[in-house]
Amino acid sequence: MQNFGCRATQADGAALESLLDQRGMNAADTWGHADLVVLNSCTVTSAADEDLRHTVRRVHRENPAARILVTGCYAQRAPEEIAALPGVEWVVGNSDKTAIPDLVTDALGHFHGQIHVHDIFAQHDFLSAPVEDAAGDRARPNLKIQDGCNNRCSFCVIPYVRGRSRSMPAEQVLEQVRALARNYREVVLSGINLGRWGREPGSTMRLAGLIRRMLQETAIERLRLSSVEPMDFSDELLTLMTESPRIAKHVHAPLQSGSDSVLRRMHRKYRPRHYADRVRKAREWMPDAAIGADVMVGFPGETDAEFEETFQFIDSLPFTYLHVFTYSARPGTPAASAPGQIPMPLRKERNRRLRELAERKNAAFRQGFVGQALSVVTLGHGKMALSGNYLKVELLHESAGNELRDIRIGGMTELGLREHDPLRVL
Ligand code: SF4
Repeated sequence: MQNFGCRATQADGAALESLLDQRGMNAADTWGHADLVVLNSCTVTSAADEDLRHTVRRVHRENPAARILVTGCYAQRAPEEIAALPGVEWVVGNSDKTAIPDLVTDALGHFHGQIHVHDIFAQHDFLSAPVEDAAGDRARPNLKIQDGCNNRCSFCVIPYVRGRSRSMPAEQVLEQVRALARNYREVVLSGINLGRWGREPGSTMRLAGLIRRMLQETAIERLRLSSVEPMDFSDELLTLMTESPRIAKHVHAPLQSGSDSVLRRMHRKYRPRHYADRVRKAREWMPDAAIGADVMVGFPGETDAEFEETFQFIDSLPFTYLHVFTYSARPGTPAASAPGQIPMPLRKERNRRLRELAERKNAAFRQGFVGQALSVVTLGHGKMALSGNYLKVELLHESAGNELRDIRIGGMTELGLREHDPLRVL
């Protein structure tokens, strides 16, 4: 199983792997030795699409006998495009993902044809299975508890490939966190629009209520929220994060733009002042917290003045890191056909400026922890660990992964921090 793209894709992949495992299908070491290769695709950018096409060609070249199944968001969006690639036997949309184990083990031939994609808006199931392993990062399993999105940001293809917002039932979440807590110190809660967990009609519990139950009813030592839309960082959720030492002090709230007019054209649901209010409150209540955002540059029609507004807005807020994306048109979205598409060199220049700003802010944030203590989870590859407030820390000695420790910080590295060495003079 190979995953492309976002955390939600990885979490789906882990769930799917577990379902296939339950059917007695054993994972091969490499795709060169596999009879079946499952590729779980992302389509959030054109680069993600290209990655998938490249991988399909490579798998087929290196192992022509392998049967290739492509699923995920790209499969849902453009199945014919993928079916035309060499060696692809099945294309299965997110709409039909839960049927994959039947599809690939169907000895009686109930399933005909190559493309299995249906209306994603009719999908109410939640793909889930015990996620007992941490895909990619062996020390911090990623548990997807929400899927889909009811918003319609004008640049985004996700609602069309993931469908309406739906939540993993609370009892199932608690059961999975309990099981994960037996083997792991930290669990990362994720979703396409995580802050919308529990918002279905008839449900009264919200994300903060669910987390409170996790703290009361499971032994998990550290919970981390992957990404929550800014207006879902309610006072209740921020209070809970502030008060519980078992929740990582890490606020990631997608911003996309700091310009009011661009946010309107993006159909985002908040204005810059609303966003600033949430972020300032998070900083006031949690002085050491990581505060990060996704930002998009080069959205259609983004003028120099609008970009400068974004730059100044970000500069004025206590961000500790940014994920800066260059706008890429996604077929079928309103923004793809909007006037004023920005030339690529200008998009890249804006990206470079924001990255530089982010690096400056990140360095200043890291500098503040030299000589201080931080709580980290060891990652199990060499000497690396990750702090509650999302800083990579180089440890003095190699360590087994998956340990929660308090360490003293001795200095900065190029991109992170290093543990204090009592023997080091300078
Ligand atoms: S909130 Fe907007 S950007 Fe995020 S998944 Fe939903 S539509 Fe896409």
